[in-house]
Amino acid sequence: MTHVTPLALFVADTLHRPLRDLRISVTDRCNLRCTYCMPRDVFGKDFVFLPRAELLNFEEIKRVAGLFVRLGVHKIRLSGGEPLMRHGVEHLVEALAKLNSVDGKPIEIAMTTNGVLLAKKAQALKDAGLTRLTVSLDGLNEAIFQRMSDSSESVATVLEGIAAAQAAGLAPLKVNTVVKRGINEDEIIPLVKHFRNTGIILRFIEFMDVGSTNGWRMDEVVTAQEILKLIHFRYPLRAVDANYPGEVAKRWQYADGGGEIGVIASVTQAFCNDCSRIRLSTDGKLYTCLFATDGTDLRDPLRHNASDEELSGLISDTWQRRTDRYSQIRHAATNLPKKKIEMSYIGG
Ligand code: SAM
Repeated sequence: MTHVTPLALFVADTLHRPLRDLRISVTDRCNLRCTYCMPRDVFGKDFVFLPRAELLNFEEIKRVAGLFVRLGVHKIRLSGGEPLMRHGVEHLVEALAKLNSVDGKPIEIAMTTNGVLLAKKAQALKDAGLTRLTVSLDGLNEAIFQRMSDSSESVATVLEGIAAAQAAGLAPLKVNTVVKRGINEDEIIPLVKHFRNTGIILRFIEFMDVGSTNGWRMDEVVTAQEILKLIHFRYPLRAVDANYPGEVAKRWQYADGGGEIGVIASVTQAFCNDCSRIRLSTDGKLYTCLFATDGTDLRDPLRHNASDEELSGLISDTWQRRTDRYSQIRHAATNLPKKKIEMSYIGG
């Protein structure tokens, strides 16, 4: 008689939040230096990025991802750094796209990219089985884009990437815009005009205090409420229900049928209650919060013959011990962590 062992082990943290989403930073390098993420005075030419041997290789990522899926993960997002800078990332997408969730459905494979290398890669990503793509773009005005990204890349390059992704049939396609007061709030309406009626979902993100290097100040945050008011005045909006529990963006539709937008209000309307995300850093550490200071190392056990059971045990213990809800307490707490991990290292 064949003995069938149950493969699925759902895990929940101390606040009863299930583990559903895995974000993987496939590289800590980026071809932009967005001032709010990788400021050039810190991530300049003397900055030492992780040497290749310290990065999880694709075999290691695939193995770990398979274990996460058995613990209930339904969606994997590849991020960074800039994920398209990781050589052959489409081969990783292809391998991950073969994973099935515990209920037998293919898992979703998503990516967040700055779009600079997307025109070349879009078709390969689609063919590999990428199911969702988000492109970051903070403005259509060249000078503002270059100021936000502290680079000489052009808006046209990113728009070509977006067009290639659309032509390849990558849908749903989303565009993320971080809004920083005094820098790019005048880009909100031009972006709205540009992406209305295209099927692309534009999402505005409140400037967050991730990491310890971006000099975050609350007065530089343009709140989701301000952003919505501005858009609603020009293009009336109505709220739409979330697609699923734990969706980070609040959804809105143009009343005239011009499509959908979203706002990610991590600063003013924290969504920790529903947070089901875990992050795997470029060098194989697990972080249960975007604002974390410490992680659980998986790479060392992975490279020292740990069994699947041992690795799964480490993952589920990490999740089950989880108490973090940084965004809910950031304004009230007096002893917030000073040295938070950088977003480029744990994946946005
Ligand atoms: N390089 C890729 C990109 O630009 O999309 C992926 C990594 S990036 C860290 C992921 C997302 O995080 C981007 O949409 C970026 O704009 C956003 N992000 C980075 N730092 C942020 C901050 N301080 N506040 C809000 N969003 C931020």
